[in-house]
Amino acid sequence: MVKIISIANQKGGVGKTTTTINLGACLNEAGKRVLIVDTDPQGNATSGLGIKKSDVSKDVYDVLINELPIKAATYHTKRVNLDVVPATIQLAGAEIELTSQMAREQRLEAGLREVRDQYDYILIDCPPSLGQLSINAFTASDSIMIPVQSEYYALEGLSQLLNTVRLVQKHFNAHLGIEGVLLTMYDARTNLGAEVIDEVRKTFRERVYKTVIPRITRLAEAPSYGLPIIDYDPKSRGAEVYISLAKEVMKANGDQ
Ligand code: ADP
Ligand code: MG
Repeated sequence: MVKIISIANQKGGVGKTTTTINLGACLNEAGKRVLIVDTDPQGNATSGLGIKKSDVSKDVYDVLINELPIKAATYHTKRVNLDVVPATIQLAGAEIELTSQMAREQRLEAGLREVRDQYDYILIDCPPSLGQLSINAFTASDSIMIPVQSEYYALEGLSQLLNTVRLVQKHFNAHLGIEGVLLTMYDARTNLGAEVIDEVRKTFRERVYKTVIPRITRLAEAPSYGLPIIDYDPKSRGAEVYISLAKEVMKANGDQ
């Protein structure tokens, strides 16, 4: 059975896209069939997986607005069984265009229904907002994974995110759960990081992954080569931590 996970936090720059790309690639490395859906108009997951925007003729916008079959907007990456539904800047218009459409919250869910049997994991990279695009992602998902930057205001805004989860549970998707909370960009040189980790663990308890993602330059470099870290630098610490996260995710899903 497929597991559909939204990677979400309405704060920008917390590591959503980095986590989507690298978790996806590490699950794929472990033999899983993975689809990554980019729902951020910035399209960073798209380019970070080596898909050139100029080569994209159909994207997630066409699935959401024109009800294009998702297969027609699915692109292969260099990794076998790691596919992408890309986003381009035209997606920026979708927030407003969806507002006037019927069954607007269920568009992505309907699109994914056609391909869900063909994957083990579908990861949805969410935009830094809680509008129609995120609501579509949450409605289509089994759970959400929340990357939290290990910094002072880490928990700020999370109540708003959890409120949106509750609204989606109430109206569109009763079985939506919290997959886990992931601490990202941890910097061992500051005491602050450790304090934040304590605070996040107190709040979310066993839902916080044991794996903590440190701040690692190689992780920030890899996307400009269009590669996940396990292909850009397979022996690196960045590769190691995302492999460890993938193992935790598979274990939590009885999948190992
Ligand atoms: P989001 O998708 O939440 O906006 P990104 O994953 O794009 O966040 O990360 C924001 C920036 O920080 C990007 O430039 C990315 O390369 C960098 N980054 C993400 N995670 C790490 C990390 N663990 N170490 C160093 N840089 C990181
Ligand atoms: Mg992003």
